Amino acid sequence: MAKIRVLADHVANQIAAGEVVERPASVAKELVENSIDAGATRITIEIEAGGRRLLKVSDDGEGMVRDDAILAFERHATSKIRITDDLIAIGTLGFRGEALASIASVAKVELLTCTEEAPAGTRVAVDGGRMRDVKDAAHPRGTTISVRDLFFNVPARRKFLRSEATETFHLTNLVTHYALAHPEIAFTFVNNGREAVRAVVAKDLRERAYQLFGAEFLESLLEVDGGNAQVARVTGFVSAPRDRRTSRDSQYLFVNRRFVRDRMIGRSLSEGYRSILPHGVYPAALLFIETPLEEVDVNVHPAKTEVRFRRQDAVADAVREAVRNALSHTGFVPPEPQIPQILEIPQPQTAAAAVSSTPPQPRIEFAPLPSGDEIARDIEEMIRTRSISSPPPLPPLDSAQRLVSPVTADALPSNIRPLGQLEESFIIATDDEGLLLIDQHVAHERVLFDKYRALESERRTESQQLLVPETFDLTPAQAAVFDQLAPELEVYGFELMRLSGRTVAIRAVPADLPGGEARNMLSELLETVDAENKSSARDTMRDEIAASLACHAAIKVNMSLTPEKMRWLIDRLLQTSSPTTCPHGRPVILRLKMRDILKGFHRI
Ligand code: ADP
Ligand code: MG
Repeated sequence: MAKIRVLADHVANQIAAGEVVERPASVAKELVENSIDAGATRITIEIEAGGRRLLKVSDDGEGMVRDDAILAFERHATSKIRITDDLIAIGTLGFRGEALASIASVAKVELLTCTEEAPAGTRVAVDGGRMRDVKDAAHPRGTTISVRDLFFNVPARRKFLRSEATETFHLTNLVTHYALAHPEIAFTFVNNGREAVRAVVAKDLRERAYQLFGAEFLESLLEVDGGNAQVARVTGFVSAPRDRRTSRDSQYLFVNRRFVRDRMIGRSLSEGYRSILPHGVYPAALLFIETPLEEVDVNVHPAKTEVRFRRQDAVADAVREAVRNALSHTGFVPPEPQIPQILEIPQPQTAAAAVSSTPPQPRIEFAPLPSGDEIARDIEEMIRTRSISSPPPLPPLDSAQRLVSPVTADALPSNIRPLGQLEESFIIATDDEGLLLIDQHVAHERVLFDKYRALESERRTESQQLLVPETFDLTPAQAAVFDQLAPELEVYGFELMRLSGRTVAIRAVPADLPGGEARNMLSELLETVDAENKSSARDTMRDEIAASLACHAAIKVNMSLTPEKMRWLIDRLLQTSSPTTCPHGRPVILRLKMRDILKGFHRI
């Protein structure tokens, strides 16, 4: 007997639902996208019990006539594409025509809709994939879809839903994303009868971000505006290096206004912050990437949250450069020398040839990365053990908060005269504009970081042999990273030897690094280096090694310095690539301006 059978429609829909409908937020995503595609100017999302009991989306879009309202629940029913050619340039958010059919197969759905011209609206009710009712019903122009009892007929999936708080978090995050991508649409989000988000029509992204996050967040953001129209325009906002987050939750990424979770974009964003944010710390970002429609394939994932770019590397470069420029315009990193653009646009044939001639890379598996919380703890621990008595955002006195400000690269002090030390940790100095405080540890860190990077690029590192080699034992996870890290460490003057099992001997260390610090530094690096990320790896890894070396070799706080040593440190600092920020993004110099001093004493 033949064994192959065509699946019944409702079974096929439930299988598709597994891909489209993962949780309440994914239902909301499909419904909100439909509303946007329908030209809505106002969208309201209401939820109860984290979206399990009720998830209701209403809009004032074009609505549907009765026949369309019924057809909308058929699999592969879509008004958005007709022929395969349309797939190449998709301008709408939806196009697969499976969302409503999938959702209706695993919940109790009611659709109310009406078009401008229709004499009456329509109500369609579908339960677990079965059409229950179709009749006339009153509704203003637009559509309201209520999804009740999600997964009521698929207990196995219902079990996988997380707590109400978690599902509500995902829903809030989703509404925030769409509200950011569409300032021209008013959004309201109601959670268990309480209004959680209310954003009226805004004139641009800045105003929308202000409505959603408030003034303080907005003021701390740097504007991004870069890339090019042929490959990718990159616009939006990123946070200043002093704002640190331990997860990517505050990164909102969009491609052609479609919200995406794309590792490549996230990585390029982080690379823009190379050498000013440590590993495991993420900037906040609202980044919009606009590419010509034929440059990007959005049809690679049923929920359409992943995209594929035709010129992946060029897009990555555009993102990284745009972010880097935003940081240098605002003085966080020095402007990069203008390298002539060799961004050649490859002809389709040569691009294809290049792809096919690259041998497939073997995938290397590593232990799972630590969670956001673990990273946060590690960083706290790192900061504590580095004996920096001042936590990163220097807690200024109330009055000082208003008057003292970090010195930025465009306002470099000249003619600095050191006067002495405060708490044997900060150099007190004057310059032509007023009073300066210099953090001696981070200043030296910057000096050493630049030195190590320069020596490394000139291939002339200096090392010192240890009389008695230090040994230490790797954990299994560290051992996997070690083999990748070791050659990079040797570039900086380490001499390492893998003894039996997981024991490593340190035979030589870079000049300036106290022998006793080597072990701490290595175990710290082995924990933080992202070995999984191998393509972008080398430069980033070398930066991380240089930053870690600099930190461990630098003079500490609570250390008395002679006037000559202070002078030396300041002179060297001013010659570095970025005298105003340390490799971890902290300010190096604070300034109290003469004007503010005079004001403070009521002399002006
Ligand atoms: P897709 O969005 O991929 O086309 P869906 O299953 O999400 O498929 O929706 C099917 C069709 O139903 C859409 O193509 C559209 O014509 C119609 N539709 C769905 N939601 C709305 C809405 N809120 N307003 C107007 N039309 C809608
Ligand atoms: Mg859709």
